Amino acid sequence: MTGLLSVARTLDRCTVLGPGTRAVVWVQGCPLRCRGCVAAETLPFDGGTARPVAEVAGWLCGLDGIEGVTLSGGEPFSQARALAELLDAVRAERPDFGAMAYSGFRHEALRRGGPDRRALLARLDLLVDGPYVAARHGSLHWRGSANQRLIPLTDRYAHALAGPDTTAGIELSVGPDGSVSWAGVPPAPGFREGLEDRLAARGFVLHTEARRER
Ligand code: SF4
Repeated sequence: MTGLLSVARTLDRCTVLGPGTRAVVWVQGCPLRCRGCVAAETLPFDGGTARPVAEVAGWLCGLDGIEGVTLSGGEPFSQARALAELLDAVRAERPDFGAMAYSGFRHEALRRGGPDRRALLARLDLLVDGPYVAARHGSLHWRGSANQRLIPLTDRYAHALAGPDTTAGIELSVGPDGSVSWAGVPPAPGFREGLEDRLAARGFVLHTEARRER
């Protein structure tokens, strides 16, 4: 395996970006520019950290107590080939590893995309599709605006989709270096800026840059 992933950030445990407890990989680079995007630092394609797919796969395989990974960004389908390789590598060791991804593109457009995009789709259990639209912001399960759809691609998470469609909230975590980061879907437009400003006023800085969890 020789592929490289451009990674904005990783998180080894998260309960607010998909079913159960999951790792999260935020990839770097998105061709879209949704107004109010909560992850503006992940948009340039020339940022992030280039990491071998095999290394990221090894990190995921070594995590205990998670049931899968969520691929976010940035735009995961801009790195579809490397992410499909990543899921193959992880499942070679952990066949029951779940996979969910966010995309700013609609499912129909991804299905009409090239072979790499279709290959990634074929390896996912759950997709959240569509761009973030601030005017349609809602407190919804795992997504920020009402145009975005939760699309099951296997029956793995059917039980999780049957519950109430309300926000899972946000989660703060402390890294091994003591830095604090956050994950999740903000409950209102502008929430992130307000949270960061309030914490900064008390001397806390939230980190969103690339950080190794091991
Ligand atoms: S698709 Fe997602 S990452 Fe890209 S600009 Fe829109 S909200 Fe931000």
